[in-house]
Amino acid sequence: MLVAKNKAGELINLLEGLPQKTTFFCPACGEAVRFRHGSVMRPHFAHISLQNCRFYNENESAEHLSLKAELYAGLSRTERVAVEQVLPQLGQIADLLVNEKLALEVQCSRLSENHLRERTQAYQNNGFQVLWLLGKKLWLTRRLSNLQKQLLYFSQNMGFHLWELDLDRHCLRLKYLIYEDIFGKVYYQTKTCPFAANIMDFLRLPYRRQTLLSYQVKQHQQVGLAVQKQLMAGNLHWLRQQELAYSQGRNLIVQSDADFFPQVRPPEVKGGFCQIQADLESFYAAFFHYYQHQENKTVQTLYPPAFYDKMRSNHIISRKEKNTDRPAES
Ligand SMILES: [Zn+2]
Repeated sequence: MLVAKNKAGELINLLEGLPQKTTFFCPACGEAVRFRHGSVMRPHFAHISLQNCRFYNENESAEHLSLKAELYAGLSRTERVAVEQVLPQLGQIADLLVNEKLALEVQCSRLSENHLRERTQAYQNNGFQVLWLLGKKLWLTRRLSNLQKQLLYFSQNMGFHLWELDLDRHCLRLKYLIYEDIFGKVYYQTKTCPFAANIMDFLRLPYRRQTLLSYQVKQHQQVGLAVQKQLMAGNLHWLRQQELAYSQGRNLIVQSDADFFPQVRPPEVKGGFCQIQADLESFYAAFFHYYQHQENKTVQTLYPPAFYDKMRSNHIISRKEKNTDRPAES
């Protein structure tokens, strides 16, 4: 904790200066907290007992404390920022609250998907926007975990994306145009913003007008063989896919590589992505529609959703034009 109350009920913010040693209390639950000023962790407060606090459930890591401090320092240059803002109506504390509307959650440890969903909905239902910024343990590596899927955001210009905080490099990282191949390997692009730069501008980037980027992924070869290995290893996902294929009179093992095109696809999840309110169905449809018309099936170019959308609308318009140009054949 970086904020506590003193005996007089005043808020003491350690990022604005260090206090005299005295008695301090948790601003949320009112229990006593200790002021710690050692050599390992930056100065902070910690509950003497967490038993009666429903706002804090563990004492924090050094990473969490430092990231909050660095974001606070960076953001306060351009925005109105509160650190550890108690929101009694939600029963939670925003790590940072920017301009009274945007909650930034610095998430350094794993949490359950249910807990994430509840906390996210509490923000959304009370008119706050929330961005989860991920500490090292939650960074995106080769695969998207189910928890990471629930931390994905979506925009027309940058597709599926998520935010990472890098304490060692003092920067915020945006991983965007996130797609995964049929074996679950992820592909994405990266942009970074030093904490010393304009963080708020960077956080708005996915929704800003911009030149649309793309990148290419070479398609796997001998996919049937790879699928066969997965089936022999008892991979549940591929067993279900094969069952589905059989019911349609196909056998995945003997299909050609071209039949698996496009191998890289947008992430999907049962029950929806809790950070995303956009209609993804039309995006999925436009995405697959685009690749149906691609000749070269050995390499795949990945674009932002806005591109697929545009290609699909163009296609519909040109079909309409053809229909009106020519008299209907009878
Ligand atoms: Zn407390």
